[in-house]
Amino acid sequence: MQRLVIKVGSHVLTQDGAVASMRMLALVQLIAELKAHKYEVILVSSGAVAAGYTLLPLDRGNVANKQALAAIGQPLLLKMYQEKFEKFGLLCSQVLFSADVFDSPKHIKHAKVAIDTLLENNVVPIINENDTVSVEELVFGDNDRLSAHVAHYFDAQILIILSDIDAFYDKDPNRYDDAKRRAVVSEISQDELEAEHTPNNEFATGGIVTKLQSADFLMKHGREMFLASGFELSDVKAFLVDGEHVGGTLFKK
Ligand code: ADP
Repeated sequence: MQRLVIKVGSHVLTQDGAVASMRMLALVQLIAELKAHKYEVILVSSGAVAAGYTLLPLDRGNVANKQALAAIGQPLLLKMYQEKFEKFGLLCSQVLFSADVFDSPKHIKHAKVAIDTLLENNVVPIINENDTVSVEELVFGDNDRLSAHVAHYFDAQILIILSDIDAFYDKDPNRYDDAKRRAVVSEISQDELEAEHTPNNEFATGGIVTKLQSADFLMKHGREMFLASGFELSDVKAFLVDGEHVGGTLFKK
C-alpha cells in the first residue's frame, strides 16, 4: 500500500472569508476514492482561521487575533470534515503538532506510532499546526513546510500539494501571460530556493518559494512532490488514479 500526504492550502479551502464547503466535499470525495485504490492518505489542512472568522469576525490583520481565530475555528473545521467523511463511511481524526515536534526524534517516534495506528484502522489523520502556540506557519508558509516534514518523517512516498495554482511555471503565471508550465522538475537552483518573498520579485510572489523548499527537501530525501490545482481535481486524479501525468508538476530526482 502506498502512503501519501495531501496538503490543502487556505486559498483552496476558503472563499469570501468562510470555509468553501463544496470544495472540501470534493477533496473528501477524492480521498475516499484514493483509499479505495489502496492508498493510505494523510491530510494536512489549513482553514482554521477562516472557520473561526465565520463564528467571530476578529480583525485578521494581527497575529494574536489569528491565533485566537485558529483556536475558535479548529473544532469547527474538524466538525465539517467529520460530516463529510461520514458520507463516505469514513472516520477522520485531528492531529495537532507544534512546530518543534520534528526537532525531536522521540516526539517523531511517538507521533508516528499514532499516525500508523490511525491508518491501520482506516482512519484519516487530519494534521494541522497548533497555531495557537506556534505562529510561524500562520504568518508565513501556510503548512507547506509542515506537510513536507509530515511526508518525510511518516514515510510517505509522495506529497501532493493542492494549490490555487495548477502547476509550477518558469515564471509567475498570474503576472506573465507567456509563463510555461514545467511538467517535471528534478533540480531546484539555490536562487529559486532563496528568492525573496516580496510582491515585486517577478519570481517569488505568493507561496511558491515555500513549495519549492518543500520539494527540494523531499527530493533530497528520496521522495517526490506533486503540485496541482485544488480547485479542479482532475489532474491529481489522473495522476494518482489513472497513472497519467496530464497537468501539474512532478518534483522528482
Ligand atoms: P496556496 O494555494 O497553496 O495557498 P499560494 O497562493 O501560497 O498557494 O502560492 C501559489 C501562488 O504562487 C500562485 O497563485 C502564483 O501567483 C504564485 N507564483 C509565483 N511564482 C510562480 C511560479 N513560478 N509558478 C507558479 N506559481 C507561482
